[in-house]
Amino acid sequence: MAADGARSRFGNLGYRGGGGSSNSSPSSSPKLGGGKIRTPPLQQRRTASPHSGSSSSSSPGAKHQQLKQAPFSPAHSFRKVTLTKPTFCHHCTDFIWGLAGFQCEVCNFMSHEKCLKHVKTVCSCMAPSLVRVPVAHCFRPPGHYKKKFCSVCRKHLEESLTLRCEVCELHVHTDCAQFACSDCRQCHHDGQQNHDTYHHHWREGNTSSSARCEVCKKNCGSSEVLSGMKCEWCGIQAHSACYIILTHECTFGRLRSMVLPPNCVHLQARNFSKMHCFRISENIQAEQDEDNENDGIIQGSVKETPTSADSSKQSLKIYDGHDAVKRNQPRIISVPRIAKSEEVVEAALRAYYIPDEPQDYELQTLMQQTLVSDDIINRNGAMEDGKVGSVFKEATPEAWMIRAKPKEREILKIYPGWMKVGVAYISIPVNKEHTVQTVIQEVLIQLGRQKENLENFRLVEVLMSSKQVQRMVLPFEEIIFDRLNEVRKTSIRQMNQTRFYIEENEKPEIKIHIFISGLPPLLSSEEYTDLLKEHLAIKDKLVSVIPAYSPQGAVVLEILCFSEAERIFMLVKDTSINNKQLHGVIIPHIMHEKLPQETCPLLVFVNPKSGGLKGRDLLYSFRKLLNPHQVFELTNGGPLPGFHTFSRVPYFRVLVCGGDGTVGWVLGALEEIRHKLACTEPSIAVLPLGTGNDLGRVLRWGAGYSGEDPYSILISVNEAENVLMDRWTILLDAQEAVDVMENGISEPDPPKIVQMNNYCGIGIDAELSLDFHHAREIEPGKFNSRFHNKGVYVKAGLQKLSHNRNLHRDMKLQVDQQEVELPNIEGLIFLNIPSWGSGADLWGSDNDNRYGKPRIDDGLLEVVGVTGVVHMGQVQGGLRSGIRIAQGSYFRVTLLKPIPVQVDGEPWIQPPGQIIISAAGPKVHMLKKSKQKQKKTSASSKDTKGDSVILNDNGS
Ligand SMILES: [Zn+2]
Ligand SMILES: [Zn+2]
Ligand SMILES: [Zn+2]
Ligand SMILES: [Zn+2]
Ligand SMILES: [Zn+2]
Ligand SMILES: [Zn+2]
Repeated sequence: MAADGARSRFGNLGYRGGGGSSNSSPSSSPKLGGGKIRTPPLQQRRTASPHSGSSSSSSPGAKHQQLKQAPFSPAHSFRKVTLTKPTFCHHCTDFIWGLAGFQCEVCNFMSHEKCLKHVKTVCSCMAPSLVRVPVAHCFRPPGHYKKKFCSVCRKHLEESLTLRCEVCELHVHTDCAQFACSDCRQCHHDGQQNHDTYHHHWREGNTSSSARCEVCKKNCGSSEVLSGMKCEWCGIQAHSACYIILTHECTFGRLRSMVLPPNCVHLQARNFSKMHCFRISENIQAEQDEDNENDGIIQGSVKETPTSADSSKQSLKIYDGHDAVKRNQPRIISVPRIAKSEEVVEAALRAYYIPDEPQDYELQTLMQQTLVSDDIINRNGAMEDGKVGSVFKEATPEAWMIRAKPKEREILKIYPGWMKVGVAYISIPVNKEHTVQTVIQEVLIQLGRQKENLENFRLVEVLMSSKQVQRMVLPFEEIIFDRLNEVRKTSIRQMNQTRFYIEENEKPEIKIHIFISGLPPLLSSEEYTDLLKEHLAIKDKLVSVIPAYSPQGAVVLEILCFSEAERIFMLVKDTSINNKQLHGVIIPHIMHEKLPQETCPLLVFVNPKSGGLKGRDLLYSFRKLLNPHQVFELTNGGPLPGFHTFSRVPYFRVLVCGGDGTVGWVLGALEEIRHKLACTEPSIAVLPLGTGNDLGRVLRWGAGYSGEDPYSILISVNEAENVLMDRWTILLDAQEAVDVMENGISEPDPPKIVQMNNYCGIGIDAELSLDFHHAREIEPGKFNSRFHNKGVYVKAGLQKLSHNRNLHRDMKLQVDQQEVELPNIEGLIFLNIPSWGSGADLWGSDNDNRYGKPRIDDGLLEVVGVTGVVHMGQVQGGLRSGIRIAQGSYFRVTLLKPIPVQVDGEPWIQPPGQIIISAAGPKVHMLKKSKQKQKKTSASSKDTKGDSVILNDNGS
C-alpha cells in the first residue's frame, strides 16, 4: 500500500491515526484464506505486531496524546499456515522453504517465521491511516492486467477483472477497490492545502524484478509477490524494510527539471471526475495490450470465498451496514463451528478490512434486525455438545450484519492538516452532548487558538474512498455522536475511511477554465458570447468568454461557479455548431511565478492513434512518470489546450509522440499561437510512432518506437541537443478551386496554404503515396490528416490523371526567379531534411561543386527528380540517388494539369495552377538526441537504414 502517511510529514506523531483503534491482535483463529491453520502461540503473534492493543483510543482525555511517540505497528493478523504450493516471502522476497509460513488473515501478507519481527509493511486494513492528503484514484473501466498484484488483498490479478489507476501504480481487483482508499498522488492543489515541500509517495509492489534498493543497493523487486517500495514521483525503489530510513523529502529524481511540480498547478475540480481533470479520453477502445485485454464484462462484486466442504466450518454471509445490504454486496466468511461469538465478529471485521477490536461490535441477523449475538454462542455451544443443529445444514449461508455497539463516549480525531499545523491530528473525547461547535471549540483550545472566533472555522467530514474524496461541512448544531453513529450504520468500513478536518472558513475564489474548440473561426468576442449563450445558455454573471484563439475557432471560458462549470462541460460534449462537434477540456492553472528557476517542464503530446496501441501505452507511462497535467492526448482537442495551459510558463520543452504528420500538426499549431506564449520558441523532441518518420530519424530519435523504457526516453529528451530547422510555406493557388469557394455555403475553405517540414513531392512520388493513403483510409483509426477534411480527397481524381507521366511537360519550375529546365522525369521532390520515404537518401552523399552540403537549417531546399517507380525503388534500396536539379529558397511551380502532390507524406490531387514554396517564419528549435545515447539504442534497433542516413549528419 502507499505509505505516504501522516508519519512522513509529521515524524512519528500520530502515525497510527485513522478511524477507530488501530490495531488488532487476534485471539482466535477463524479461517479466512487458503491453507490449514494452526494457531501459533499467542506470544509469537504478538511479536509480529509488537505494539498491538487499543492504546490509541483507550485513554480518553489524554490531551496531548498525539505528541507521544506512537510505536511502529504494521497491524497484521499473522497466523501460521501450511503451504500447499511454492510460496515467497513478501518481506524478503525469498522462497519459503518447508511447509509452514505465516500469513496475515486480513491482507494475505506471507512471511518467513524469521522475517516476522522485521515486517514493516503496513496491513491493507490500515491504509486509510497512512493517507497524508486524501486524493482519489483515477480508474478506467476494469480490464485485465495479468502480471500485476492487487494492492489490497496482495494476490495475483491473473484472470480477474482489475481496476488500475491512470496516474499511479495502484492495481486492485474490482471487488477489492472498495477497500482501497484515496492514497493517489497529489498532482495539483485546489486551494485547500498547499505544501511546498514534497515527500516521496510510496507505493508497494508491481516493480520490475530488476529493481535495485536505494538503501542497501541489493535487488528489491519481485515478479512473484507484491514486494518492494517505489516512489511515484522520483522513482526510487527500496525494500519495505529499507525505505523507512530514507529522508522523506522527494526531489523528483533525474526527471526533476522536466516534472511540472504539483504545488505549481492549481485546479478546482470538485465534482469533475479524475478522468476529466487529467483530460483522459473516455472513448474506451478496449484496452488490448499484448497481455492485457478487456472483455468488457463487469461481474457482480460479490466475492464468494469458496464454501468449505469441511464440516467443522460454517459459512456466514456478512453485510457491513446498510450500504452493503442496499447494494447486496455481502462477503462470505467461513469460521469454525466452535468459534466464539467474538471470533466470528472479528472474522467479519477482517473480511471488510476493518482493523478495530471485535468487542466494540456485534452481529445482527439480517432478517430480524435484533441483537442476537448471544444466540450464536448458544448455538455453537449446542453443536459442541454434539447435537448438530439444523441451522448450518443449508447450503445458503445465513446473513448477518456488523453493527457497532453503542458507546457512551469515544475519542474523535480531528485533523488540522490543512491549516499547516505541525501535528497529524488532535484527539478529542466526545459524548452525546458534543455538538460540532463544542468540538471546534475544544480543538481550538488544544491548538492554543481559543481566542479566535469560532465562526471562522468549520468541521469537515471527509470520506476517503478510492474512487472519490467526498467533503461535507457539518452544521454547528449537529451532535457529533449522532453523526458517527449514522456513518457506522451505513458502513463500518466507511467510518474507517472517514476523517474529520478542522478548516479555516475562508471561501476560496472559484475560477474554472474550460477550453472550448470546434467553434466557427474569426468571430468577435461578442459573437462568440452570443453563440455560446444560444447553444450552451451560459450565464453572463458567471461566465466570461475569452476569445483567445479566434483564428482557430477556440475560446476559453472562465467560470465562477462549480455547478455552472459542470453543466457547461457536460453540455459541450453533446453540442454541435454548424455540424461541428464542440470539444471542451478543463484547463489547470500553472502558477508560473512559483516554478523553480531551473525548471523547464516538458509538455507532452501523444497521438494515441499513431503506432497501434503504443501511443496509449506511452500516454499511460508518461502520466505516471510525470505530472499528468503536462501530458496531453492530441485526439482530445488537438495541441491548443496544451499550449494554452503552458502559455505563461517562461521555459518549457515539448515532446511529440506520433508520426511525422503529428509533428507537423503540433509545429503548425505552435507557429500560429507562438506570439501568445511566454516561451515563444520551445524546443521540440520527437518520439516517432508508426512507420515512416523521416524527421524522427534525422533527429536521431529512430525510425519508430518499439517499446523502449519510457523513463529512459525522458532522460534522453532531457539530455538532447538543440538544433534549428527550417520550415516552409506552400501556397497552392488552384484555378479550379475558385468555383468551390464561391458556392461554398458552410463547407470549410479548401487548403490554400500548408506548412512543410520534411519534403514535398509532385508526380509519381505523390501518386504512390496517394494509393497508399487510400488503402490506409480503410483503417480510419490510423488516419489523421492535418490539412484536409476527408471529403477533400478527390478519389475519382485519380482516374482523371493521364497515364502519360511526362512531368517535365505538365509543369514548369522556377527556382529563385530563374526558370529551370526539367529533365525527363516522373516525379519532382523538394527536400528540407536528408531523409525521404522512410529513411532513403534521395539527394545522395556525393560532393558536388554546384550545390552546398544540405543542412536542415540553411534556408535552402534541395530539388531532386526521379524517373519512375523503378528509380524510386533503387533510391529506397540505397543503390542510386535522385537526379539533382536545384537548390534554392524560393520556388514557383506551374501545374498545367491536375497532378498528385504530397506534403510530408500527406497526398492529394492538385488542380492546375501555381504552387509557391518559400521559407516560413522563424526556424524552429528541435531537439536532437545526443550521439552517445543514440549509439546505445541503435545497436538494438533492427532498422539500420534510418541510422545510416543519420550518420551522414547533415543536420548540424
Ligand atoms: Zn522472508
Ligand atoms: Zn495484513
Ligand atoms: Zn484484491
Ligand atoms: Zn492513483
Ligand atoms: Zn520520491
Ligand atoms: Zn534494501
